[in-house]
Amino acid sequence: MRSLTIFCGSNFGTDPRYAEDAKALGREIARRGIRLVYGGSAKGLMGVIAESALAEGGEVVGVITRLLHDLGHMHPGLSRYEVTDDMRSRKARMSEMADAFIALPGGLGTFEELLEVMTLTQLGEHSKGVACLNTANFFAPLRSLFEHGVKEGFMKAEHSQMLLLEENPGALLDALERWQAPVVTKWIEPVTG
Ligand code: AMP
Repeated sequence: MRSLTIFCGSNFGTDPRYAEDAKALGREIARRGIRLVYGGSAKGLMGVIAESALAEGGEVVGVITRLLHDLGHMHPGLSRYEVTDDMRSRKARMSEMADAFIALPGGLGTFEELLEVMTLTQLGEHSKGVACLNTANFFAPLRSLFEHGVKEGFMKAEHSQMLLLEENPGALLDALERWQAPVVTKWIEPVTG
Protein backbone atom coordinates (compact mmCIF):
# COMPACT_ATOMS: atom_id res chain seq x y z
CA MET A 1 0.00 0.00 0.00
CA ARG A 2 1.85 3.09 -1.22
CA SER A 3 -0.92 5.64 -1.68
CA LEU A 4 -4.11 6.20 0.31
CA THR A 5 -7.04 8.45 -0.57
CA ILE A 6 -8.74 10.01 2.43
CA PHE A 7 -12.31 11.28 2.66
CA CYS A 8 -13.24 13.32 5.74
CA GLY A 9 -15.28 16.21 7.08
CA SER A 10 -14.59 19.76 6.00
CA ASN A 11 -15.90 20.61 9.50
CA PHE A 12 -14.36 19.58 12.83
CA GLY A 13 -17.40 17.90 14.42
CA THR A 14 -18.42 18.48 18.02
CA ASP A 15 -16.27 15.87 19.75
CA PRO A 16 -12.56 16.82 20.10
CA ARG A 17 -11.68 13.15 19.53
CA TYR A 18 -12.48 13.55 15.82
CA ALA A 19 -9.56 15.94 15.31
CA GLU A 20 -7.29 14.00 17.71
CA ASP A 21 -7.80 10.77 15.76
CA ALA A 22 -7.45 12.52 12.38
CA LYS A 23 -4.11 13.85 13.61
CA ALA A 24 -2.99 10.40 14.80
CA LEU A 25 -3.95 8.79 11.48
CA GLY A 26 -2.13 11.46 9.41
CA ARG A 27 0.98 10.89 11.53
CA GLU A 28 0.79 7.10 11.15
CA ILE A 29 0.31 7.31 7.36
CA ALA A 30 3.41 9.54 7.05
CA ARG A 31 5.47 7.32 9.38
CA ARG A 32 4.71 4.32 7.18
CA GLY A 33 5.89 6.24 4.10
CA ILE A 34 2.44 6.13 2.49
CA ARG A 35 1.36 9.03 0.23
CA LEU A 36 -1.82 10.78 1.41
CA VAL A 37 -4.22 11.94 -1.31
CA TYR A 38 -7.24 14.03 -0.32
CA GLY A 39 -9.52 16.89 -1.36
CA GLY A 40 -6.85 19.57 -0.80
CA SER A 41 -8.81 21.79 1.59
CA ALA A 42 -7.47 23.45 4.73
CA LYS A 43 -10.89 23.19 6.39
CA GLY A 44 -12.02 20.96 9.29
CA LEU A 45 -10.65 17.43 9.60
CA MET A 46 -9.31 17.73 6.03
CA GLY A 47 -6.83 20.39 7.17
CA VAL A 48 -6.03 18.51 10.38
CA ILE A 49 -5.02 15.24 8.69
CA ALA A 50 -3.04 17.01 5.95
CA GLU A 51 -1.11 19.08 8.48
CA SER A 52 -0.26 16.16 10.73
CA ALA A 53 1.08 14.10 7.80
CA LEU A 54 3.11 17.09 6.52
CA ALA A 55 4.51 17.77 10.01
CA GLU A 56 5.76 14.17 10.10
CA GLY A 57 7.54 14.62 6.74
CA GLY A 58 4.86 12.82 4.69
CA GLU A 59 3.84 13.41 1.09
CA VAL A 60 0.39 15.02 0.81
CA VAL A 61 -1.34 15.51 -2.54
CA GLY A 62 -4.49 17.64 -2.86
CA VAL A 63 -7.00 17.18 -5.69
CA ILE A 64 -9.34 20.16 -5.74
CA THR A 65 -11.92 21.55 -8.15
CA ARG A 66 -11.31 24.86 -9.90
CA LEU A 67 -14.28 26.37 -8.05
CA LEU A 68 -13.05 25.46 -4.55
CA HIS A 69 -9.50 26.45 -5.50
CA ASP A 70 -10.67 29.89 -6.67
CA LEU A 71 -12.67 30.30 -3.45
CA GLY A 72 -9.37 29.97 -1.59
CA HIS A 73 -10.05 26.64 0.15
CA MET A 74 -6.76 25.04 -0.76
CA HIS A 75 -4.22 24.22 1.91
CA PRO A 76 -1.13 26.34 1.12
CA GLY A 77 1.53 23.88 2.33
CA LEU A 78 0.85 20.70 0.32
CA SER A 79 3.61 18.66 -1.33
CA ARG A 80 1.69 18.85 -4.62
CA TYR A 81 -1.81 19.62 -5.88
CA GLU A 82 -3.98 19.12 -8.95
CA VAL A 83 -6.90 21.32 -10.01
CA THR A 84 -9.76 19.58 -11.84
CA ASP A 85 -12.64 21.00 -13.89
CA ASP A 86 -15.40 19.48 -11.76
CA MET A 87 -16.28 17.12 -8.88
CA ARG A 88 -16.54 14.10 -11.19
CA SER A 89 -13.07 14.37 -12.62
CA ARG A 90 -11.77 15.14 -9.15
CA LYS A 91 -13.19 11.93 -7.71
CA ALA A 92 -11.94 9.90 -10.68
CA ARG A 93 -8.42 11.27 -10.15
CA MET A 94 -8.52 10.61 -6.39
CA SER A 95 -9.65 7.06 -7.09
CA GLU A 96 -6.96 6.48 -9.73
CA MET A 97 -4.22 7.56 -7.33
CA ALA A 98 -5.40 5.29 -4.48
CA ASP A 99 -4.30 1.79 -3.53
CA ALA A 100 -7.03 1.92 -0.85
CA PHE A 101 -9.45 4.41 0.74
CA ILE A 102 -10.12 5.62 4.27
CA ALA A 103 -13.09 7.67 5.44
CA LEU A 104 -13.07 9.61 8.69
CA PRO A 105 -16.16 11.15 10.26
CA GLY A 106 -17.77 13.72 8.00
CA GLY A 107 -21.00 14.79 6.32
CA LEU A 108 -22.67 14.34 2.95
CA GLY A 109 -19.47 14.85 0.93
CA THR A 110 -17.71 12.12 2.90
CA PHE A 111 -20.67 9.71 2.78
CA GLU A 112 -21.03 10.16 -0.96
CA GLU A 113 -17.33 9.55 -1.63
CA LEU A 114 -17.24 6.52 0.67
CA LEU A 115 -20.30 4.87 -0.84
CA GLU A 116 -19.13 5.50 -4.39
CA VAL A 117 -15.80 3.73 -3.95
CA MET A 118 -17.50 0.83 -2.12
CA THR A 119 -19.96 0.52 -5.01
CA LEU A 120 -17.07 0.28 -7.49
CA THR A 121 -15.47 -2.48 -5.39
CA GLN A 122 -18.81 -4.30 -5.19
CA LEU A 123 -19.19 -4.19 -8.99
CA GLY A 124 -15.61 -5.37 -9.49
CA GLU A 125 -14.53 -2.17 -11.29
CA HIS A 126 -11.63 -2.09 -8.87
CA SER A 127 -10.61 -4.26 -5.93
CA LYS A 128 -9.40 -1.59 -3.54
CA GLY A 129 -10.06 -1.81 0.18
CA VAL A 130 -12.21 0.72 2.03
CA ALA A 131 -12.00 1.41 5.75
CA CYS A 132 -13.42 3.90 8.24
CA LEU A 133 -11.68 5.44 11.21
CA ASN A 134 -14.47 4.75 13.66
CA THR A 135 -13.85 7.49 16.23
CA ALA A 136 -16.52 7.49 18.96
CA ASN A 137 -18.31 4.75 16.96
CA PHE A 138 -19.32 7.39 14.40
CA PHE A 139 -19.95 4.82 11.65
CA ALA A 140 -22.15 2.44 13.72
CA PRO A 141 -25.40 3.79 12.14
CA LEU A 142 -23.97 3.16 8.65
CA ARG A 143 -23.07 -0.42 9.61
CA SER A 144 -26.67 -0.85 10.92
CA LEU A 145 -28.06 0.50 7.63
CA PHE A 146 -25.93 -2.00 5.69
CA GLU A 147 -27.15 -4.85 7.93
CA HIS A 148 -30.71 -3.71 7.28
CA GLY A 149 -29.99 -3.83 3.52
CA VAL A 150 -28.73 -7.42 3.91
CA LYS A 151 -31.73 -8.48 6.02
CA GLU A 152 -34.12 -7.03 3.45
CA GLY A 153 -32.44 -8.83 0.55
CA PHE A 154 -30.79 -5.88 -1.22
CA MET A 155 -27.19 -6.60 -0.31
CA LYS A 156 -25.00 -9.62 0.26
CA ALA A 157 -23.39 -10.00 3.70
CA GLU A 158 -19.97 -10.12 1.97
CA HIS A 159 -20.56 -6.60 0.61
CA SER A 160 -21.86 -5.28 3.89
CA GLN A 161 -18.75 -6.66 5.60
CA MET A 162 -16.44 -4.94 3.12
CA LEU A 163 -16.66 -1.88 5.33
CA LEU A 164 -13.74 -2.19 7.74
CA LEU A 165 -14.30 -0.22 10.95
CA GLU A 166 -11.40 0.44 13.33
CA GLU A 167 -10.79 2.97 16.08
CA ASN A 168 -7.03 2.64 16.18
CA PRO A 169 -5.11 4.18 13.22
CA GLY A 170 -2.35 1.55 13.20
CA ALA A 171 -4.83 -1.35 13.38
CA LEU A 172 -6.86 0.29 10.61
CA LEU A 173 -3.85 0.46 8.27
CA ASP A 174 -2.88 -3.16 9.13
CA ALA A 175 -6.45 -4.34 8.37
CA LEU A 176 -6.41 -2.53 5.00
CA GLU A 177 -3.05 -4.13 4.09
CA ARG A 178 -4.52 -7.61 4.72
CA TRP A 179 -7.90 -6.96 3.06
CA GLN A 180 -9.02 -9.02 0.04
CA ALA A 181 -11.97 -8.11 -2.17
CA PRO A 182 -14.99 -10.46 -1.96
CA VAL A 183 -15.34 -12.69 -5.01
CA VAL A 184 -19.15 -12.95 -5.03
CA THR A 185 -21.31 -11.05 -7.54
CA LYS A 186 -23.62 -8.30 -6.40
CA TRP A 187 -26.85 -10.01 -7.44
CA ILE A 188 -28.93 -12.25 -5.22
CA GLU A 189 -30.84 -15.13 -6.82
CA PRO A 190 -34.58 -14.85 -6.14
CA VAL A 191 -35.92 -17.53 -3.79
CA THR A 192 -38.15 -19.83 -5.89
CA GLY A 193 -40.85 -22.40 -5.18
P1 AMP B 1 -18.27 16.92 4.04
O1 AMP B 1 -18.15 15.55 4.66
O2 AMP B 1 -19.65 17.20 3.55
O3 AMP B 1 -17.69 18.00 4.89
O4 AMP B 1 -17.38 16.86 2.71
C1 AMP B 1 -16.05 16.48 2.80
C2 AMP B 1 -15.62 15.70 1.59
O5 AMP B 1 -16.08 16.34 0.40
C3 AMP B 1 -14.11 15.66 1.52
O6 AMP B 1 -13.60 14.32 1.59
C4 AMP B 1 -13.75 16.33 0.21
O7 AMP B 1 -13.22 15.41 -0.73
C5 AMP B 1 -15.02 16.98 -0.28
N1 AMP B 1 -15.01 18.42 0.09
C6 AMP B 1 -15.93 19.06 0.84
N2 AMP B 1 -15.62 20.36 1.04
C7 AMP B 1 -14.47 20.57 0.39
C8 AMP B 1 -13.63 21.70 0.23
N3 AMP B 1 -13.89 22.89 0.78
N4 AMP B 1 -12.52 21.55 -0.53
C9 AMP B 1 -12.24 20.35 -1.11
N5 AMP B 1 -13.00 19.25 -0.97
C10 AMP B 1 -14.10 19.35 -0.23
